[in-house]
Amino acid sequence: MARIGRRNLVLALCGWALLVVLGCAGAAFLVQREYQSARENTVRRAEAAANLAMQVQVASYESLRGVVNLLILRHRFVVAGHEASLAALDRSLETEVAEHRFGITALSLVAPDGRIYWSSEAAAIGLSIADRPYFRRLIDFPDGTVSLSEPLRAKVSGMWRIQVARPLNGPDGKLEAVALTTIDPLHLSDLLGAHLGAAGRFIAIRRLRDGALRAVSLAPEERLALPPQPNHPVVVAARQALAGNLEFTTSRGARRVIAAFRVFEPTGLVIEASFDRTLELAPFYRFAWLVGFGLAGAAVLGLGLAVFWARSVTLRRSLQLDATHDPLTNLKNRRAFTARTERLLASAQRTGEPLAFLLLDLDHFKQINDQHGHAAGDQVLQDVAEALGAGIRHSDLVCRWGGEEMLILLRSCVVGDALARAEALRTGIEALYSARQGPVPRVTASIGVACFPGDGSTLADLVDCADTALYAAKAGGRNRTTLGRPPLLMAAA
Ligand code: GH3
Ligand code: MG
Ligand code: MG
Repeated sequence: MARIGRRNLVLALCGWALLVVLGCAGAAFLVQREYQSARENTVRRAEAAANLAMQVQVASYESLRGVVNLLILRHRFVVAGHEASLAALDRSLETEVAEHRFGITALSLVAPDGRIYWSSEAAAIGLSIADRPYFRRLIDFPDGTVSLSEPLRAKVSGMWRIQVARPLNGPDGKLEAVALTTIDPLHLSDLLGAHLGAAGRFIAIRRLRDGALRAVSLAPEERLALPPQPNHPVVVAARQALAGNLEFTTSRGARRVIAAFRVFEPTGLVIEASFDRTLELAPFYRFAWLVGFGLAGAAVLGLGLAVFWARSVTLRRSLQLDATHDPLTNLKNRRAFTARTERLLASAQRTGEPLAFLLLDLDHFKQINDQHGHAAGDQVLQDVAEALGAGIRHSDLVCRWGGEEMLILLRSCVVGDALARAEALRTGIEALYSARQGPVPRVTASIGVACFPGDGSTLADLVDCADTALYAAKAGGRNRTTLGRPPLLMAAA
């Protein structure tokens, strides 16, 4: 497995982290926007359901008023002695009951003492409701308003019923009779829930005063029997405003619901449409999970890609180095040097830039290998390469030409400077080991110098010339610098 360059890895990880942060921010924005729109959508649908239920409420109220007016008329006919008209009126009243509109199951007229003196249910005539709280309220608080009973369950039939008692006062303000309408709350509950469909949605009608349920579209039989909830969140909110929406946790089942409510002022009832938040927002939660998984997947994939990129860049760089550099000395190899130098020579041909080539060969290097081992020889080559690299300018080039021979190109360098700088390099090598404590006592080098344009115009010619000069330096006793043309001994050890 190729090692990953630290710099490339840091770069790749930073890029990856940046993309992850941007991705997270983008996803958070998207999810937040989606959440808001899903929630607003639920609120809007709850409002629409509450409006629809309000219409049902208005219609049933109007219908009830019409029926109650007929009852009042019947009472007036009896009082005025229009017995003849009663038969037709009774038929109308019985039709209302038979049609069961808005859950009307019975109609009765009650005397001020609580005794039922007329009813569509023959069995009810003669019974007394004097002790019933809804009747007592009319007697105890004679403010002329309608009184509603709790949802009651008939002992014998098991039928649910709500009694709506409307007082009928005479000209002197005294209670003359009570028009009693019996309503089936289950029928009303069915009516309310008819358009709702999904299980998590329901409509409830509560009394604003004490939060007692009057009708509820979901599981009405068990819920109608529940005690009133004066602190129900919807009832509390409805005491502040006639319409609105809110979110709360139900006391039964601890479900979170989004609700819209309307207050129906004539009866003091609150109509609430509630939608189960978890069910309603389920598509949103699926979307959010999908985004989360997608993001996590993309992050893992991105991490893999980032590491892959860092590794491939490192690999490419190392292959590049391998192809152009000598592995022992880390100097340029002959091929890379040749390619670069030929370009520089071509440019120098045009510009006339003077160039100097220094061919350097270590003296008696074979002896170093023989006496101190190949590893020591390698170390000397590395030390010399390092000294050469440090001794040339940034624009100059140095390569391992072969074995213990190095070729150096000095740019913008005329003959005189070339000789001086070659000497500086040579003495630098000589000084390397003289000051150092180690097995290798002394290393020296001979250098042949050839200059462009004087000594040739191609690399081959110039290297040839430098080689001739090097040969002369060796022949002259080594550890010296010799100029290509004319052969001139420059310095002696
Ligand atoms: P001269 O002064 O005439 O140049 O003598 P020399 O011994 O340096 O010349 P010669 O060409 O006979 O020997 C060069 C030696 O360099 C032979 C070879 O074993 C050694 N050499 C070449 N490449 C390497 C290398 O990478 N590592 C080591 N340790 N030695 C090398
Ligand atoms: Mg040598
Ligand atoms: Mg040699």
